[in-house]
Amino acid sequence: DAATTPHGLACPAGVVSHTGLAGLALGGGYGWLARKWGLTCDHILAAQVVLADGSIVRASPDEHADLLWGLRGGGGNFGIVTRFRLRLRQVGTVHHQVGVYSLAEAAQALATYRVFAENQHPDMHAVGCLKVAGRQDWIPRSLWDQPALFLTAVWLGAPEQGPEAASALFDKAEPAGSRSRQLTYAELQALGDHGEPHGNRYFTKSCYLEDLTPEAVIAILASAQDVRSPLSSIDFEYLRGEITSVPDAASAFPRREAPYIYTASAQWKDPSQDAGNIAWTRSSVAQLELWHYGGAYVNYVQDEAATKVREVYREDRYDKLTALKAEYDPTNVLRSNQNIEPARAE
Ligand SMILES: Cc1cc2nc3c(=O)[nH]c(=O)nc-3n(C[C@H](O)[C@H](O)[C@H](O)COP(=O)(O)OP(=O)(O)OC[C@H]3O[C@@H](n4cnc5c(N)ncnc54)[C@H](O)[C@@H]3O)c2cc1C
Repeated sequence: DAATTPHGLACPAGVVSHTGLAGLALGGGYGWLARKWGLTCDHILAAQVVLADGSIVRASPDEHADLLWGLRGGGGNFGIVTRFRLRLRQVGTVHHQVGVYSLAEAAQALATYRVFAENQHPDMHAVGCLKVAGRQDWIPRSLWDQPALFLTAVWLGAPEQGPEAASALFDKAEPAGSRSRQLTYAELQALGDHGEPHGNRYFTKSCYLEDLTPEAVIAILASAQDVRSPLSSIDFEYLRGEITSVPDAASAFPRREAPYIYTASAQWKDPSQDAGNIAWTRSSVAQLELWHYGGAYVNYVQDEAATKVREVYREDRYDKLTALKAEYDPTNVLRSNQNIEPARAE
């Protein structure tokens, strides 16, 4: 189950690498490549779909084009996809640079991140994470086991240009410790595996943010300090780029213009701590209400009621989706999901 990659890194087949393509693509699909090339769902060219009545159809621009529209962001509501035709992209080696900051330095670093991220080249994708620092060599001992800010820049252009491209971030916000290296795309994707092993307990809550103002940063840092488990994390990133190049009405995926996505991910081991950890994720998102952009990413909606799914898609799009659901799954056979209910016949 484990492999060694070209750069000698062990890639245990962990929970991130195991996360499937189908659910990710049907709900949207954010990742390192989204700012450069758009969402995964924008790469669905056609699909073979088993409908709720057992019939098999092909969704493409020429056949069941309405179904193809729904598969690009509508999740698993309309049928079981048994084959995708996807547009592929060539990704070689990427430059990966990460800097760590104490919480005392974090507000200043995030002010720099905000300017950098909102002006970054489409080949750049910079993300932030607040979590308890591990004991790696490149992290200063004073930060080991302490809540800390990690800023990561991934450069998808020529790898040798990466350090220069990331310098506007890391020269201005000089980290307490940093690591810079080249990775294959598979290695990059597997980096999170060791941090999210199978068997732990997880709960995620997410929202889009309008902006990362200094006031919002204060609230985010307070939430990082309030964390209930040393395994939990807060992740955020500036989106836009090619995500916004697809017209809003062209697919079921909503909120393409959202500037930032923010996610509080609780991870813990002991079931008796469920309530406190779940409450932390909820309050982490709720206390940012002033900066909420509206809606949420459907693949990060975990346990909310149907009203939340309606809010995710917004009223106008939701009405179109319920009509589509009535056409392809009128009795709501496929309901164990972020459910879009079929429109009722008048
Ligand atoms: C560790 C981790 C990291 C993640 N990171 C990201 C990330 O970086 N970016 C991002 O966008 N998302 C991320 N996600 C969320 C991810 O997009 C969803 O969990 C997604 O549902 C995973 O797809 P899956 O095929 O594994 O779905 P499953 O868990 O197998 O299924 C979830 C739902 O997807 C639908 N579905 C799955 N397969 C099919 C199919 N063949 N046909 C029709 N419907 C189907 C169904 O509704 C099903 O209930 C992450 C999730 C995890 C657990």
